[in-house]
Amino acid sequence: MTSPLYGQMMDIPLLASSLLSHAARHFGDTEIVSRRIEGDIHRYTYRDCEKRAKQLAQALIALGVEQGDRVGTLAWNGYRHLECYYGIPGMGAVCHTINPRLFPDQIAFIIDHARDSYVFFDMTFAPLVEIVAPQCPNVKGWIALGDASCITEHLGNLSVPVQSYETLIAAHDGHFEWPVFDERQASILCYTSGTTGNPKGALYSHRSTVLHAYAAALPDSTCASSSDSILPVVPMFHVNAWGMPHVAPLTGAKLVMPGKDLDGQSLYELMEAEGVTFTCGVPTVWLGLLAYLKQTGKRFTTLKRTVIGGSACPPSILHTLEEEYGVDVIHGWGMTEMSPLGTLARLNFKQKQRPRDEQLRALEKQGHVMFGVDMKVVGDDGRELPWDGKSFGDLYVRGPCVIDRYFRRDESPLIDGWFPTGDAATIDADGFMHITDRSKDVIKSGGEWISSIDLENIAVSHPQVAEAACIACSHPKWTERPLIVAVLKPDATVTREELLAHFEGKVAKWWIPDDVIFADELPHTATGKLQKVRLREIYREYVLPGAVEDRV
Ligand code: AMP
Repeated sequence: MTSPLYGQMMDIPLLASSLLSHAARHFGDTEIVSRRIEGDIHRYTYRDCEKRAKQLAQALIALGVEQGDRVGTLAWNGYRHLECYYGIPGMGAVCHTINPRLFPDQIAFIIDHARDSYVFFDMTFAPLVEIVAPQCPNVKGWIALGDASCITEHLGNLSVPVQSYETLIAAHDGHFEWPVFDERQASILCYTSGTTGNPKGALYSHRSTVLHAYAAALPDSTCASSSDSILPVVPMFHVNAWGMPHVAPLTGAKLVMPGKDLDGQSLYELMEAEGVTFTCGVPTVWLGLLAYLKQTGKRFTTLKRTVIGGSACPPSILHTLEEEYGVDVIHGWGMTEMSPLGTLARLNFKQKQRPRDEQLRALEKQGHVMFGVDMKVVGDDGRELPWDGKSFGDLYVRGPCVIDRYFRRDESPLIDGWFPTGDAATIDADGFMHITDRSKDVIKSGGEWISSIDLENIAVSHPQVAEAACIACSHPKWTERPLIVAVLKPDATVTREELLAHFEGKVAKWWIPDDVIFADELPHTATGKLQKVRLREIYREYVLPGAVEDRV
């Protein structure tokens, strides 16, 4: 038997620290701008960032943190959080980003389950630390992301002993070589939002972190480059801000961090002041921004494109941004378990030759896989369905940036080597995937499936509707029928009948919802997704008008 012939290339592992080192060395004076929770704007460069991340790495070693130890962060998007993103994995520990929007009990569960040794937190989260600290006996220290004077000023009443981040790192000089180790070692730990059961941990490796950054930066993904100024609105405490803290240094892009003020005006002002060309966020962020633009008559002068995802981007937002503001919308889909990006809607050469309305319909979908992700939809019998844009079933994925198990759980979630996403989707002949629902939110009417997302999109395209959810309501004849729960805009006058008439001609007749309920607000998860499980509970006993007739 002949022995394999190996390539003769340098065997340099893919480590997260290499992303920041690359930016510090080759884009050393490119800026990182942060709106701090102290209220001012902070600016420094990749070179400064790497030096401070190294000081942090030295400080962690001095604290006794070892390779593989988990170190938590409870923080907004800002330069100190970025230093944690690199300083912690850079020295071999694991940066565990914690979502402060979860319930305190879930946060305590996560910190305890991850066995975090230290937790770094923004001072705005001090009240949360006060609540969860007594339930986290394994945490050796709580470190406030500020200087000693801020702590005296803002955290005087905290019963938990805290250290100052600035004091901690000031004791070190930043003369430090990033250690080189196996690229399969863990880099970052993120827990899912846990709408059902306890949150589960997705433990990324250095290799998956770097590969994801490469793929996410590609032209048909985010098309990030050194000529960009990137503002990730999506928080660094939720799925790595969709990889932007890694993509920006990989490409040498300027990075703009919005801190805690995510309202339309604050974001707009920061974007304009810092020449932001690219941003990414969930649809609700855009609702705020567009309302602000409409109210003030202002326009973007530098913004070129935006990734919208996390939940389905309503076509009305996409059309307004594309047609009225000239901003390219890249509808993206992914999940915590995928690092997180999976697909992005970018038109290929063939699609660009088609009429504009066809292009817009394609852009409304969740799009094409990026390199490194494979996907398929399977039917109830477990067999792969055709890519015809119509057959829909459960969406499965696989790839080097997809988890193969959850942190500290033995059972594997995989089915024949594929990860079941829990989403239901179609794939068309162009390879464009379209999420029709979370599998458990699909409405099954008379044996056929109705997409609740499609109906929600139609409801919010009504000019007087602010937000809408579509849920299955039980029905004696059809098993389930769609019910819309809508929140109206202030001063709206639309009636149930008018809203139902708005569906006519947009979907098949039997898809038109049976009823509309107007509500003051809708329940959301900690990551801003509609909490349909909760809505189904609230309206479990609700009797649809048709259901009464059918019963009589
Ligand atoms: P998370 O792990 O919190 O990022 O949530 C991932 C889930 O969010 C996915 O499995 C989808 O159900 C949903 N999701 C993310 N992006 C989209 C999108 N563009 N359209 C519809 N659902 C989405």
